[in-house]
Amino acid sequence: MSIKKGIKLKVAISLLAVFIVCSTTIVNWYLSVHALKDTLTENYLQNNYRYATKVSLSTSDLFFNMQQNLGTLAKILGSKEYSQEDLDYWKEANANFFNSIFITDETGVVQLMTPKALPNKGGVKPGVRITSDLMIQALKDQKPFVSNPYMAQTGNLVVLISYPIFDQTGTYQGVVDGTVYLESDNSLQRILNQHEFLDQSSVFVVDQNGRIIYHPNSSRLNESIADHPLIQKVIQGKSGSAEIINRKGQEYFSGYAYVEQTGWGIIAQTPTTVIEQPLRELTKKIIIRSLPLLLLIYLLAWLFTNHLAKPINRLASYSEEATQTNKLGYSIHQLEIKSPIHEVKQLYKHLHNHFQLLNKQIQQDGLTGIANRRAFDLEINDLITQKTPFSLIMLDIDNFKKVNDEQGHLVGDDVLRFIASIMEEVSRKEDLCYRYGGEEFAILLKTKEVEDAYALAERLRLRLSSTVSPAGYPITISLGISTYQKKDPFPEDIIKRADSALYQSKRTGKNKTTIYELS
Ligand code: GH3
Ligand code: MG
Ligand code: MG
Repeated sequence: MSIKKGIKLKVAISLLAVFIVCSTTIVNWYLSVHALKDTLTENYLQNNYRYATKVSLSTSDLFFNMQQNLGTLAKILGSKEYSQEDLDYWKEANANFFNSIFITDETGVVQLMTPKALPNKGGVKPGVRITSDLMIQALKDQKPFVSNPYMAQTGNLVVLISYPIFDQTGTYQGVVDGTVYLESDNSLQRILNQHEFLDQSSVFVVDQNGRIIYHPNSSRLNESIADHPLIQKVIQGKSGSAEIINRKGQEYFSGYAYVEQTGWGIIAQTPTTVIEQPLRELTKKIIIRSLPLLLLIYLLAWLFTNHLAKPINRLASYSEEATQTNKLGYSIHQLEIKSPIHEVKQLYKHLHNHFQLLNKQIQQDGLTGIANRRAFDLEINDLITQKTPFSLIMLDIDNFKKVNDEQGHLVGDDVLRFIASIMEEVSRKEDLCYRYGGEEFAILLKTKEVEDAYALAERLRLRLSSTVSPAGYPITISLGISTYQKKDPFPEDIIKRADSALYQSKRTGKNKTTIYELS
């Protein structure tokens, strides 16, 4: 039967060890990277949320202060005459909150403004009546307000802060308006520009309608992004943080906060790609740090595997060799198996018992139970190889055909068993009895004293000739004896000589022992 060679146990266990070590490392890497990713994500979201909230509060404060400032100015204007110098001084003294301040009467005609000479302010100058919707609204409402940012004729995005002027009798006198240019250097710009706490982070602002009114990329000013879910939330007055995808498909960690004073939304954001670098670094670190450990674990696994597989390998090659060579007397005791593994011990024990049984069966004659021709060949070969002196008695039953013919083969078989048992009885422990074949037997004596062999042969012959056999009468045998000579290289030589002596016994009347005479 041919069996596919298959994968070696050592290789299989090594592969298993490699697989376990690698998969453990991959799982560790996966968990570490995910833990770091989660932490970084949470940090960026938190930081952006905190920053948006901070900017929102600062912006609210700024607008509150601006309104307060204009309120104070409106109070002064209601109680006394104000000159151009007074107004210029006021603007300068108040931290340049505004890009410009102008005062109108109750019909909207500009009375005073600072700076006095505004570059091409679309006709806004002292004596000119402002007829914009905002001005009409301001004059009608007579209430303080902050306008939505609007595009001025100059092309600037402008926020107007307006405060009504009443005189001491409570009569409406007009308005004082301050303008803030969103793109110019002013207090608002300084608040919004400070977002430098993390690389690649930025902040932008939308008005109540979801229109971008401040953005680091000025080309996006005035763009409406009201349809984005995050913008929806912030202009509804909510604050929080989220991972979002913008219109261009870029992902961001965003924090958002609502500005109470103006109804604006502040969004602080960082592209999610910012965490790729630390994740790559971590992966690199894990690989570099775990590589020596992996190699060590693998080496230990390999050594352990070798230790485990070695006895199994030896048992396997032993049984292969034993069955291939088909040698008798193969003993598993020659194997030194040291293994702590239960299954290996079991296998060794079973193999040992199996070989013992096999050895016994293969060397035993099925009919008589004594050693067979195979065992005889093995032993005589060993004796010759080891140059151990020995003698050989060959014997053949006299007139055995007659027993078979007259009483049948079963009785003949009984006679064979009977002779075998007598042979063992009369021989000594160290003499080896064999059924050589058919009704021929052999005895090996580990002595070259032919007298000893002759004595045993005669003892056997006399015993048989005087004992009733299963045939109903004593059976006689003829014997021939030869001894091992140093010049005998082959067993056949000795067998031939014993056979020839046996033939001599037959020829000279049977029931006889003949010693082969060397010429
Ligand atoms: P001789 O005295 O010359 O030996 O005469 P013989 O009748 O014994 O002749 P031979 O030795 O040639 O006899 C062999 C016979 O042994 C033939 C065969 O039937 C018988 N025989 C061989 N093996 C067995 C066996 O296993 N059982 C039985 N019953 N008979 C066997
Ligand atoms: Mg014969
Ligand atoms: Mg015979």
